[in-house]
Amino acid sequence: MASKKDYGKMCQAPACDKKSHHGDSTFCQMHQWRLKHWGALERTPIEYMKSKTFVDDNSCWVWTGGKVGQSKRRGSQPYGTIMIGLKRFRAHRVMYELIMGKIPDGLVLDHICRNTLCINPEHLEPVTNAENVKRGYESRKALWGKES
Ligand SMILES: [Zn+2]
Ligand SMILES: [Zn+2]
Repeated sequence: MASKKDYGKMCQAPACDKKSHHGDSTFCQMHQWRLKHWGALERTPIEYMKSKTFVDDNSCWVWTGGKVGQSKRRGSQPYGTIMIGLKRFRAHRVMYELIMGKIPDGLVLDHICRNTLCINPEHLEPVTNAENVKRGYESRKALWGKES
């Protein structure tokens, strides 16, 4: 009985006029996804990402979520990562594209602040990979120079 009652009902999120994902679900596909992955309906991706950072003295937005790539032996720095759907992305690239727009093909983001966990777009500059490697080398050389 009443089997058709909920069929085609609307998403229950505030100000959403989409149809619910399935006949029996409360929200549309987007809101259901947000609720499942973010635990909130109304957060934007930018708000969500900022909630996973803290701001340090250099006004870096330091990522506190997942990290990859740190190796003491190779001297490589950690990068923040974020899962979107089933794929893992570098957090600073995602944030940059959310705020500044698409990163031009073939360019990588250089951390001007040298904090690889920082996702503040103002601290990121698209450069060629060669330039990035060179800058990384120079900053390590400067560091070693200081230590010796
Ligand atoms: Zn919705
Ligand atoms: Zn920074």
